[in-house]
Amino acid sequence: MSKKKILTVPDPILRQISNPISEVNSEIKNLMDDMLETMYEAPGIGLAAVQIGILKRVIVVDVSKDAKKKEPLFIANPEILSQSKDLISYEEGCLSIPNQFAEVQRPSMCKIKYLNYNGETKELNAEGLLATCIQHEIDHLNGVLFIDYLSKLKKDLMLKKAKKQKKEIDRVVV
Ligand code: ZN
Repeated sequence: MSKKKILTVPDPILRQISNPISEVNSEIKNLMDDMLETMYEAPGIGLAAVQIGILKRVIVVDVSKDAKKKEPLFIANPEILSQSKDLISYEEGCLSIPNQFAEVQRPSMCKIKYLNYNGETKELNAEGLLATCIQHEIDHLNGVLFIDYLSKLKKDLMLKKAKKQKKEIDRVVV
C-alpha cells in the first residue's frame, strides 16, 4: 500500500468521466488499498480513483465514527438503482477542494449495485451520511463536484479560494 497525491481544483482530470473496470483483479485491489490508505491519511470519509488521477470507476468509503473500528467499503462500477424523493442536507467538503465547505441537498437514501473487493456483485441500501458520501463519490466518477450544486457566485468564490490556497501551499520562501 502506498499513499498517493490527491489532485485538487482546477485540475482538468477531475472533470473527466471515469471508465468502468472489467474485473476486480490484483491491479484493482492494489488501487483500492492505495486509495483507502490515502483517504485515511488525508483524512476523509470517501475517495474516488479520479482524485488520485486514475480514471476508473472505483471508490472507497468509510463513514464509521470509531477510529479503532474501521468499516471500509470498496465499491467498483457503482450503479444507482434508486434514490429517495426526500432530501437531506449536509455540509460537504471535498479532498479535491481543500478547506471549502457548503451545504448540499441530496436524496436521503439511495440503493446501489456494485462490485466489492472480492469482485462479487453486491447491493446496498444507504441512508443518511453514507448515502450522501456515496452519491458525492459517484458524482466524481462523472466529473461532477459538489460545488456544481451551488449558485455560480458561491461556486466561483470557492474555486477562487481553493486556487489561492493552492498557490500559497506551493510557495516556498527560503
Ligand atoms: Zn470529493
